[in-house]
Formats: sequence, C-alpha cells, structure tokens
Amino acid sequence: MNAQTQTLPTAFDVQRVREDFPLLSRSVHGKPLIYLDNANTSQKPLSVIRAVDEHYRMHNANVSRAVHLVGEEATAAYEGARDRLARFINATSRNELILTSGTTQAANLVAYSFAMPKLQPGDAIVTTVMEHHANIVPWQIIAQRTGATVKAAPIDERGELIVEKFFELLTPEVKLACVGHVSNVLGTVNPIRELARECRKRGIPLFVDGSQAVPHRPVDVQALGCDFYALTGHKMLAPTGTGALWARKEHLQAMPPFFGGGEMIREVSFSGTTFAEPPHRFEAGTPNIAGFAGVTAAIDYYESIGFDAIHAWEQQLLTYATDRLRDIPGLRIIGEAREKEPVISFLIDGAQATDLATLLDLQGVAVRSGHHCAHPLMQFFGVPATLRASLAFYNTREEIDAFVTALLKVRSLLM
Ligand code: PLP
Repeated sequence: MNAQTQTLPTAFDVQRVREDFPLLSRSVHGKPLIYLDNANTSQKPLSVIRAVDEHYRMHNANVSRAVHLVGEEATAAYEGARDRLARFINATSRNELILTSGTTQAANLVAYSFAMPKLQPGDAIVTTVMEHHANIVPWQIIAQRTGATVKAAPIDERGELIVEKFFELLTPEVKLACVGHVSNVLGTVNPIRELARECRKRGIPLFVDGSQAVPHRPVDVQALGCDFYALTGHKMLAPTGTGALWARKEHLQAMPPFFGGGEMIREVSFSGTTFAEPPHRFEAGTPNIAGFAGVTAAIDYYESIGFDAIHAWEQQLLTYATDRLRDIPGLRIIGEAREKEPVISFLIDGAQATDLATLLDLQGVAVRSGHHCAHPLMQFFGVPATLRASLAFYNTREEIDAFVTALLKVRSLLM
C-alpha cells in the first residue's frame, strides 16, 4: 500500500506519544535530537522510568528469599514480569519463560545447556549469513569444543534468506538451527513459520533470535512453531540488562543448569546437589529486579498503543524514509527485502560511513555506523561498514526530512 494512502488507526497521535519519552525532547550539540538508532537500543517512556524509580523507592528487596512484605512485593514484581512476558508472546505457560539479561545470555544458555551436550564430532549447527554475532559466536564456540561445525545459509542481493538453500543444509547431522526473526542491519523479516515447519519435519529444533522483531510486531511463539525464542528488553522500551528465553517445556525439563549458585537449587549438599524446576533452575543469583518491573511497564505501554497502530505508522515512515533516501545521488541502500521492519542500511559513494555518522551527530542526528555486529553480512555485501537509520513508532516524518537535509549537508562537506 502507498505510504500516503495507508490508513492509520485514528487513535495514533505521534506528537502525543513523543511526550511520553523525555529524552526525545533534548538537544545535542545545540540541535534538537533526532534519534534514529532504535535498533541499537530504544528510548524509554516515562511509565518505564517511573516503574524503575518506584521499585527502588518503595519495593526494593531481594526476590524469593524473604517472608517480609517488601520482599514479597519485589518477588511479585519480578514474577509478574514473567507472567506479562508469557502473555505478550503467547507462551503456553509462564514456566516456559526464563528471565535473562538479554538475547546474548539467552543464546548462550541454549548453546551450553541444550546444544553442547548433544554435539559430537561431525554434527552441525545451521545459521544464516545475516545473523548478529550473538546468533553466530555462541554456536562457533560450542562447535569448536565438540568437533561440530557451523554452516551458514546464504542470502540474496535483496538481503532475503534463500529458503531452499537453508532447507538443503538441514541434513541428519544438524542438531540445531538458529535464525533471526528480523535482521538488525537490513530489517529483513524471515519466514519463521515456514522455516520452523521444515525444521520440525526433520526433527531439528529451531532457535529464533527475536531481538529486532518484538519491538515492532506481535509475536506468537505457538503460531511460529519454533522451539526457542529469545528477546532483549532494552530494544523494546524496557531497561538494559533484561530479556528472556522462551523454550518448549520438554526442552527445559531435559536441560541441565548452565549457571550454578543461589536460587536455582532444591537442596545443596556435598553428597549431591539437586536443582529447582525450570524456569528457576536457569536463574542463578540476584536478577535485575527493578529492570523487570520496567519490562512490565514497557509491555503495558506497547499494549496501550497496540501493534496495529505501531506497525502502520512504522511502515509509513519506512516507505517515506526509503523514498527520500533513494533520491540522494550516490546513495545505495543495502538490502531491500520485500518484507522489512523499519531499518535502513546504506552507503554513500565517496564517503566513509563513520565520517558521515560523526558529522550527522553534530547536526543532532543519532544513527549507527559500522559492522553492526554482523561481520559475515558485511562480507557478503563486500563492505566494511554501513550507515544505519533505524526507526521507532515515536519518530516523525519531520525528523526524516531533517535527517535527509542533514545528510545532504554532511555529504557535501565530505565531497
Ligand atoms: N541479536 C540481534 C539481532 C541484535 O540486534 C542484538 C543487539 O544488537 C542482539 C542479538 C544482542 O542483544 P543483547 O546485547 O541485548 O543481548
């Protein structure tokens, strides 16, 4: 649908939404901030900031270890976030949600606890060329230790996964497949249902890195049909150091603990320690309790706006920004998948991405330059780095206009 004619739910008022995000009204280098680095981390609404503040003011205690009221409140905040996350991604049970510090911890948990004990020399793990390093390096480390290999499914010039090639790699020695739901560099949306169906037919568990999907679209893990789904709080309006791993109950039951310590045991003795049931078996030590109070507030915030409105607005912005950037001579967009979330990577002939980003910052525009923790993807496109503008529902068309004006200005300085 054309961006100009696509209808928006009437309730969505971007100016009103922006008032909820204090940081959006600050300036940098004497210019109003235009924050287009949302794939890196999102900004936080007041309700999330207040939830963290309120937690430390009124409910701060450790979880699951105190009978006093404040301790019970802290436990309720932490366990409440698990309930909220389970409903948010439609898990069948709250016990399928392990609270983590983010996607990186979630992937490493799957690597060490689920995959490594199964791997033997000659086995393989399949991933794709477009993954974030968090969905490559943990698999490489365990492959090195076990004599297994990591194979990467290719993508095409549009930045879409070549699905048939992915399926060809799913041979009997593959013990795990790992795919990002949405690429952090290209915005490409991968066909997870289709991939999960084929993995299931072959008895291969599928791990999905949902870091860049959850902030933009409703996720239903049951409908997706995968085995594991990881998300990170800080990209979805919540505090840093929060995240989750959803996993099918049968996998969690069979997985040994990864971290040992307090809170994950049933009984400790030098003649043999026994472990708690999932999810607590995987949550050793004191978690980021205040952060998870913020996770609940973040989900409430998303639901108060609704993903229909968020998606419609973000897709309008994506189309508008893409069209405006395409008009700039010498600008090349990297990856133009048919289904995308609002992330645009690009290069400008004759200018280094890092120089452009540095000069854009002086104009008040925050974008990211570099390899975006995706070296294999950069190698595929034959570039060392890109400039990336990543949008959120609180961005505006006026900000995109100002970004394009700033880009033209800094480009002329470098030419
Ligand atoms: N996966 C993807 C696709 C990402 O974009 C990121 C963050 O940039 C991560 C994983 C890692 O997330 P975290 O550092 O929050 O664990």
